[in-house]
Amino acid sequence: MPHTAPSSTLRTSIIGGGPAGLMAAEVLARGGATVDLYDAMPSVGRKFLLAGVGGMNITHAEARERFLARYGERQAQIAALLADFDAAALREWIHGLGIATFVGSSGRVFPSDMKAAPLLRAWLRRLRELGVNIHTRHRWLGWQPDGSLRLATPEGERSIASEATLLALGGGSWARLGSDGAWVPLLEARGIPVAPLRPSNCGFEVAGWSTTFAERFAGAPVKPVSIALEDGTPRQGEFVITAHGVEGSLVYALSAEIRERIARGGSATVRLDLLPQKSLEQVEAALRKPRGSKSLSNHLRGRLGLDGVRAGLLRELSDTATRADPTRLAAAIKALPLRLLRPRPLDEAISSAGGVPFEALDERLMLRELPGVFCAGEMLDWEAPTGGYLLTACFASGRAAGLGMLDWLGNRRR
Ligand SMILES: Cc1cc2nc3c(=O)[nH]c(=O)nc-3n(C[C@H](O)[C@H](O)[C@H](O)COP(=O)(O)OP(=O)(O)OC[C@H]3O[C@@H](n4cnc5c(N)ncnc54)[C@H](O)[C@@H]3O)c2cc1C
Repeated sequence: MPHTAPSSTLRTSIIGGGPAGLMAAEVLARGGATVDLYDAMPSVGRKFLLAGVGGMNITHAEARERFLARYGERQAQIAALLADFDAAALREWIHGLGIATFVGSSGRVFPSDMKAAPLLRAWLRRLRELGVNIHTRHRWLGWQPDGSLRLATPEGERSIASEATLLALGGGSWARLGSDGAWVPLLEARGIPVAPLRPSNCGFEVAGWSTTFAERFAGAPVKPVSIALEDGTPRQGEFVITAHGVEGSLVYALSAEIRERIARGGSATVRLDLLPQKSLEQVEAALRKPRGSKSLSNHLRGRLGLDGVRAGLLRELSDTATRADPTRLAAAIKALPLRLLRPRPLDEAISSAGGVPFEALDERLMLRELPGVFCAGEMLDWEAPTGGYLLTACFASGRAAGLGMLDWLGNRRR
């Protein structure tokens, strides 16, 4: 059933019903366009819903400069997107859906019930009211030679003509939720350069925990602790031991830098401070106190409160000679080297680095080589730590692309 656009309406297609695609749909529908949104999965917003399972952290309340710095090399491009729709505007928009938000003690912003489902429900209701047509189980397969979109549907393959198309296909992690990165060769075949998708906000593997350590501590949170890259500033927080290595918020915060160091040098060493609230001198002084007949474990627990997984890490990552010498032991407790060998696979990561580079897009997020085709969301080449920065940039880029499509279509009509 090929669609033929009535000349009076602006007929647009969106491929991908994540936060970026849905936001573009709202902007386009409000701008008077006819919007058909296609998603390969049986329902839209699956990754968004999963992001809400452990507490939907939708944005961050920190000052603009600090916020933008989270986007590293791409902060200039993300700043341009957020100029029109920043964290405060996103919160207002959420409130407009009847969902209250609150700022947590870390500055992270959450919907008041911490869940994504009520927000998505209210949003889909609004999109239906705006006339957005959502077609699930429609997988985009690329383009026909005449430029129409190829879609695999439950009724077989269809070709859809579209005046302007947004690709909002997500990154390459958690493929079972829909964003599988299968779009990369489709764009490359049309001459669009795509930076390889790489894991971001991901866990890392170590050379191998001892069986005793892995069996006892896999899943254990390590806190408080701080981690520093060899020449970097320590960051305090929490991470988790896994069967293969480490993961969790503190590791994710450093994941881009760790991943790049591994790519350059084959491995990356981080230093763990197991007692971040105590100075080296305090630790050494405590260790020098007479221990009598007490075991080292009891001495560490009694004098320094170091036990459980943190004491386990110390045993696992230090040698007998270090543990026998109070000066060396204190140094190890304050800067325990942990060598990371490789990131965990992309599919397990929270998000992807890589994707369509901003250089391939104009300021409206339209592909320079494919006029009328726009891109938004995680499929663009930027990355950010967890903390709400991912979703904020996905929403803002979806909005920018929607406005860009209206502008481009309007110019064509004129
Ligand atoms: C476990 C987890 C927790 C997270 N927690 C947070 C958090 O708390 N805060 C935060 O900011 N971010 C979080 N994120 C990241 C955030 O969910 C993503 O960055 C965001 O969903 C990306 O939005 P998007 O619209 O670009 O892509 P997606 O949400 O991935 O949506 C892309 C859509 O495109 C569809 N699609 C893909 N290919 C095709 C095709 N060929 N044809 C048709 N449809 C297709 C997919 O089915 C999917 O629905 C989390 C991610 C994970 C995995």
